[in-house]
Amino acid sequence: MFQAFLLKYAEVGVKGKNRYVFEDALVRHVKKHLSKVTGNFNVSRINGRIFVEATDYDYDETVDALQHVFGIVGISPVRVLEDMEEDTVLKASVEFIRDNYEDKHFSFKVDTRRANKSYPIPSMTMDANVGAALLDAFPEMHVDVHKPEVRLHIEVRESIFMYSKTIKGAGGLPLGTNGRALLLLSGGIDSPVAGYMVSRRGVELDAVYFNAPPYTSERAKQKVMDLARIVSKWTGPINLHIINFTDIQLYIYEKCPHDELTIIMRRYMMRIAEQIAKNNDLLGLITGESIGQVASQTMKSLFCTNDACSIPVYRPLIGFDKQDIIDWSEKLGTYETSILPYEDCCTIFVAKHPVTKPNLNIIKASEQNLNEKIDELVQTALDTDEVIRIGDETEQ
Ligand code: ATP
Ligand code: MG
Repeated sequence: MFQAFLLKYAEVGVKGKNRYVFEDALVRHVKKHLSKVTGNFNVSRINGRIFVEATDYDYDETVDALQHVFGIVGISPVRVLEDMEEDTVLKASVEFIRDNYEDKHFSFKVDTRRANKSYPIPSMTMDANVGAALLDAFPEMHVDVHKPEVRLHIEVRESIFMYSKTIKGAGGLPLGTNGRALLLLSGGIDSPVAGYMVSRRGVELDAVYFNAPPYTSERAKQKVMDLARIVSKWTGPINLHIINFTDIQLYIYEKCPHDELTIIMRRYMMRIAEQIAKNNDLLGLITGESIGQVASQTMKSLFCTNDACSIPVYRPLIGFDKQDIIDWSEKLGTYETSILPYEDCCTIFVAKHPVTKPNLNIIKASEQNLNEKIDELVQTALDTDEVIRIGDETEQ
């Protein structure tokens, strides 16, 4: 029924000189996403939009693929008319409404644009004639030129494009137009959403997971890989670093006050993540923290955690309520995986009463107890970093 899709992008359009870079990236991503879908596609650019001609294709798969492309705000399925005779257009409009709207009690407006000025029928005449044909066929419809519920677009080019619906796209900016960052990915609800949020601004992702075998199971690691795979549908391939954190945790457990464990552990996570970022040209860290959510995320705790590293830390969920984050994770499809009950490394070593108002000087003093072995342990953790590439075309 539809022979093409018109893709709209918003912010990309206003980026001045960078516009071409953004548009090229967008076209490249659209092609890449469609390459995994059943069908033949031809992607081109028209007038600040992307035009995808589609044959022998699966509609649902195609729309789903296009909805995973950052930078696209709207996807309009288009009926293409090669025969531009007025009669054909009138008949096609009636069919279009008949096939796409079950209940025809709605207000509408016909919106004709004549990009091809050699086409003999003026836009206003076309609007009026199509409108009359529709009212004739479906008397329950009525015209509203100011606030129509349905706007039937008729774009006259080398052929005629007819469309009325816009499916919501992912929005944001095309991937790869804003560098790469390192997501601290645990098995929880928050961090996958945080990664998605930053990536939606055009940032590609790597991720790090702090693993604590045998205190955490192989299944917990598998869960993190599964989460990374879901997020990679939008963000593209992710290099997932698995850091063995057990010896560091045990050492902190042995040497530091137990109510400070979580904070000190988190400070070491940040330090190691910073090193990984520096070694891999990643421009910042991303966490799923949100003010006040748990003891380790009070303002004072965040102050102490943040102090441990010097590169930017992005916390896109900082002002979100838990329910907002859950809603997002359901939308992304990570929720079901996130709530699987496999312990992540923090839960094993958490104190019954962690400090909620840590004092940085006291924390730093406690960390002095680690002087003997911590540098070596951190170095070993970095040296034994296992990197798994997630979401590659070649990955099954
Ligand atoms: P999440 O739902 O993302 O697990 P959370 O509510 O459990 O978050 P914390 O456990 O305090 O919160 O962790 C805060 C953030 O620290 C996480 O969002 C994540 O970015 C990072 N983090 C925590 N544990 C790990 C881990 N084992 N590996 C990698 N990152 C982690
Ligand atoms: Mg967690």
